Amino acid sequence: MNNIKITKTSQSRLSSVDFENIPFGQTFSDHMFVVDYKDGKWQDPEIMPFGDLLISPVNLALHYGQSIFEGMKASLKNDGTPALFRPEQHVIRINASARRMMMPEMPESLFLDAVNTLVDLEKEWIPKAKGSALYMRPIMFATDAVLGVKVSNTYKFIIIVGPVGPYYPKPVKLIAETKYIRAANGGVGEAKTAGNYAASLLPAQLAKEKGYDQVIWLDSKEFKYIQEAGTMNLFFVFKDKVVTPDTSGTILKGITRMSLIDLLKKDGVTVEERPLSIDEVVEAHNKGNLLEIFGSGTAAVVANVSEFCYKDKIYKLSDSSTHETANGLRERINALRAGEIEDTFGWVVDVKSIAKV
Ligand SMILES: *Cc1c(COP(=O)(O)O)cnc(C)c1O
Repeated sequence: MNNIKITKTSQSRLSSVDFENIPFGQTFSDHMFVVDYKDGKWQDPEIMPFGDLLISPVNLALHYGQSIFEGMKASLKNDGTPALFRPEQHVIRINASARRMMMPEMPESLFLDAVNTLVDLEKEWIPKAKGSALYMRPIMFATDAVLGVKVSNTYKFIIIVGPVGPYYPKPVKLIAETKYIRAANGGVGEAKTAGNYAASLLPAQLAKEKGYDQVIWLDSKEFKYIQEAGTMNLFFVFKDKVVTPDTSGTILKGITRMSLIDLLKKDGVTVEERPLSIDEVVEAHNKGNLLEIFGSGTAAVVANVSEFCYKDKIYKLSDSSTHETANGLRERINALRAGEIEDTFGWVVDVKSIAKV
């Protein structure tokens, strides 16, 4: 086990939090986990009061973008036990992102000890309302303070956590993006790295100005094959099958995506992971064969899509209350996290009390 030093805050902010009203991403708990990478290894893991960092203006991550992150959730089962959803998958993915960005890998045991110890310490911060959770944001970035495009020798890995309310997913409107791209073959689309999101801000803003919540990214060569949307993977429910774009390098390999595919297959639904053109989706819609579109990701779990726009034509989907596949999957994931249904896959892992806190 990793020896994590714990310095507790002298003044908890817990009592000042209105758990009935927690906007996403604005409230963080009392403590954070911090570990530094130097001389070729991760050193001196520590949990300390949440607070600002002192960063050199020469910090390499700020200049050249060696920065990656994860997004995961801890929630309470109905019996009050804090639990994590597939935490080991998040270690696998942050290390895949790290390799692509020439950053050091995080040992699985250190990542999991950090997550367990922090959630155990902050368990009072996990909101109790059904469907709510403690959102966890692990982040790793370069810390060398020297200019020049090069691989940093030092890094910081931090985990901050904060409560998020039950996500009442409003159906989203999507627009297929035919000018800008998110990722090209050989690029960094598969890495959860900061620059991907910076690059998405302008097209997202233009989409918003036209009344859309997010863009559907298309492939960079032909603007034909569907990739994903914003921070969600996409699923298309046809009359006889469910299709989701295959993750051949340009698409973020969502852990929710992977889980939904397993649930659908377990139910005997035909799921195809393959290149899917926007024309195929339009044609199916025109023939009445497209029943639902939904997005998947840790934050929303499953987000219904109410309409999409492609080349100035609007394609409306049926009312999202009738989207049995999407709504059923969202309820299944939430019921699994609450411990209401048997977790045959072993995805929901109880938080271990590691430290004597
Ligand atoms: C994080 C993310 C997703 C969803 O991944 P989950 O593991 O399901 O949360 C999808 N697309 C992008 C671009 C992402 O950053």
